[in-house]
Amino acid sequence: MPFLDALALPGDPALAAVAALLGLLVGSFLNVVIHRLPLMMLRETANFVAQERGEALPHSARYNLWLPASVCPHCARPLALRHKVPVLSWLLLRGRCGFCQGSISARYPLVELLTALLFALLGWRFGLGTHALALMTCAAFLIALAVIDAETMLLPDDLTLPLLWLGLLVNLAHGGVPLQDAVLGAMAGYGALWLVFWIFKLATGKEGLGYGDFKLMAALGAWLGWQALPLVLLLASALGAVLGAALMGLGRHQRGQAIPFGPCLAAAGMLTLLMGHHWLTRLLYDF
Ligand SMILES: [Zn+2]
Repeated sequence: MPFLDALALPGDPALAAVAALLGLLVGSFLNVVIHRLPLMMLRETANFVAQERGEALPHSARYNLWLPASVCPHCARPLALRHKVPVLSWLLLRGRCGFCQGSISARYPLVELLTALLFALLGWRFGLGTHALALMTCAAFLIALAVIDAETMLLPDDLTLPLLWLGLLVNLAHGGVPLQDAVLGAMAGYGALWLVFWIFKLATGKEGLGYGDFKLMAALGAWLGWQALPLVLLLASALGAVLGAALMGLGRHQRGQAIPFGPCLAAAGMLTLLMGHHWLTRLLYDF
């Protein structure tokens, strides 16, 4: 079956294992990004507003991805190295803080495991050369964007824009996708969702997407080339419909309430990055 051919990963399990370990470490850093980046944006906005009004800055202490050191959200004690081992620490401490027993979200090990899994698949399929490392970087950005959007309905420019430039740079250096297709992909990705946004808004008066979605789609176009965009949009819309129905079925969402589209776009982009954009055509042809 062509679909199984596309899934067959003719790679080296040892490389996949090394990639998985790398993924655990990167996933641990992504947890910091996911937690801190939205807070950094809120602080920056609050400081800007205060500055414009000539008031004292509400957030003067340094707060970035590296400083201050990570603390427990309940007791604020700084985490020791033994509390920060990816997945293992959370399992050994049974999802609780090592000092105060306050519960620690399962999101932390899940993000680490997801990163490890995607890195392993990419390592298995593409090895550990510069191209594979570039694809892993793209995967890491997509995971951070998906989780931040799911939690805050935000897709920070600090992630979407570097991801876009990086996609163009990788295709300029490596030529995995011809540069012309990548540039057209970035423009068409942004333009396609912009168009969907305005058609939806003029027809219903509602805003179904955000500008972050356009930028994420532009980034996917830069990585995958314009040819992959119809597949990405189709997969993301299908995922969005399933997700919306599931959330309503679970009573987590009201009809008409917005669901974040970023995780759907990120998942569709990731699948296409891993499998190429011909597998669905082959699958449909096969049936
Ligand atoms: Zn604690």
